[in-house]
Amino acid sequence: MYEGIVQELIDELGRLPGIGPKSAQRIAFHILQTESFDVTRLAEVLIEVRDKVHFCSICGNVSEQDTCTICRDPRRSLNVICVVEEAKDVVAIERTREFRGRYHVLGGAISPIDGIGPDNLRIRELMQRLADATIEEVIIATDPNLEGEATAAYLSRLLTTLDIRVTRLASGLPVGGDLEYADEVTLGRAFEGRRLVER
Ligand SMILES: [Zn+2]
Repeated sequence: MYEGIVQELIDELGRLPGIGPKSAQRIAFHILQTESFDVTRLAEVLIEVRDKVHFCSICGNVSEQDTCTICRDPRRSLNVICVVEEAKDVVAIERTREFRGRYHVLGGAISPIDGIGPDNLRIRELMQRLADATIEEVIIATDPNLEGEATAAYLSRLLTTLDIRVTRLASGLPVGGDLEYADEVTLGRAFEGRRLVER
């Protein structure tokens, strides 16, 4: 334990995802000891991001306006929707340059252990979008892990009622992995090799 405010900083940093006590301590001391580190700028960006960034009213991606740049882009196809768990997955897929449709960000994956069910995800919003006859294909691009697979299975069952082609990203993606950590080539190939979901 450190004295007062130093410990408070470590505790706050430690609340961030993926930052354990050791990392929190390392970051805290970096901030304290590095003269060139611009604390004011960091504080400003944190406040700015909280004030300015919203979620796209159509797809749920992060956006500084009511709708995101992808949903506003008239060159993007209206016929295909790629369903992902998080906004960071949109960034990962965009890097592959394989996809010219639009996205739907669920805001997570089904995980009974964490108390996350279908109602906690943006599935109702997805079904509303799919009621639009222009959509011909839904690509399910949830993470290739337990929660992602459970979500994909749930969605494909739900979508059987609609006359829409449902595909799932092909293997090649590391099982148990995270979509955002896949390199562009692997993710690109998985996209090309997506398969029709059995139903
Ligand atoms: Zn959007």
